Amino acid sequence: MNVDLHCHSNVSDGVLAPAAVAQYAHQAGVNVWALTDHDEVGGIARARAAATGLGMQFVAGVEISITWAGETIHIVGLQIDESNRGLLQGLESTRSGRDARGREISDQLARAGIPNAYEGALKYVDNPDLMSRTHFARYLVECGACANIPEVFRKYLTEGKPGYVPHRWASLTQAVTWIKGAGGIAVIAHPGRYKLGQTGEGALFDEFKQLGGTAIEVVTGSHSPDQYQVYAEQARRYGFLASRGTDFHAPGESRVDFKLLPPLPSGVTPVWHDWF
Ligand code: AMP
Ligand code: MN
Ligand code: MN
Ligand code: MN
Repeated sequence: MNVDLHCHSNVSDGVLAPAAVAQYAHQAGVNVWALTDHDEVGGIARARAAATGLGMQFVAGVEISITWAGETIHIVGLQIDESNRGLLQGLESTRSGRDARGREISDQLARAGIPNAYEGALKYVDNPDLMSRTHFARYLVECGACANIPEVFRKYLTEGKPGYVPHRWASLTQAVTWIKGAGGIAVIAHPGRYKLGQTGEGALFDEFKQLGGTAIEVVTGSHSPDQYQVYAEQARRYGFLASRGTDFHAPGESRVDFKLLPPLPSGVTPVWHDWF
């Protein structure tokens, strides 16, 4: 069974429409698939219809941006009821402010010698509610400021670099409450990406567990192969289930494509262990 529980469509910062992501995942051999757009569930209905038509088992998901101890952290919700009012209201409040942030990012980039980045990024935006740093990154490659997307995030858009605009997202408590209120399972996305240190990471895991969080991502396109082992061990230590997903955004753009992502290591319990 090939389970992929973390993917983006053009409803957030992916490039393919929800049905095309389903098709792409299916072609790569995925048979249990979740769409997890950032702070938005507007693609779920189209993704479900396409996935079901292709014979895949579909999982409704979302990836919520939160601020915790000054860091931006992502919490994935799986098996959510995407029509739940509390979830929809929460996501709407989280999305608000992205456009104003985009204008500030653009002003900073202009001062750094890259003009008109707001208009440039906007060409890549399909959902006007969801302007993301990824859209700026695509434009910075297009205009020749950087050779590729990883270079953009090394030189721009991240803390201490031009184009970094701190943003206050939802709280951990809110994200877990919205997900659980919508009947879903809360998962910490790509824990290896955060700059929390050991103590900070332990505090995040403890608080998440206390709030009713269930799982952490172990195998993700955002982890290096040695981090698969590190987070398998952390899942065992903290009693979390383990999740797996590419974090796919676009063909050829993501760090790991569907066919290259390994299975979960042995010794962890998959988050999907009791789904079928
Ligand atoms: P935002 O929600 O607007 O802050 O944008 C965050 C998105 O930027 C993430 O979901 C990734 O898709 C992308 N991103 C962040 N850091 C990197 C990186 N180092 N390399 C590639 N993409 C990144
Ligand atoms: Mn993204
Ligand atoms: Mn993420
Ligand atoms: Mn993601």
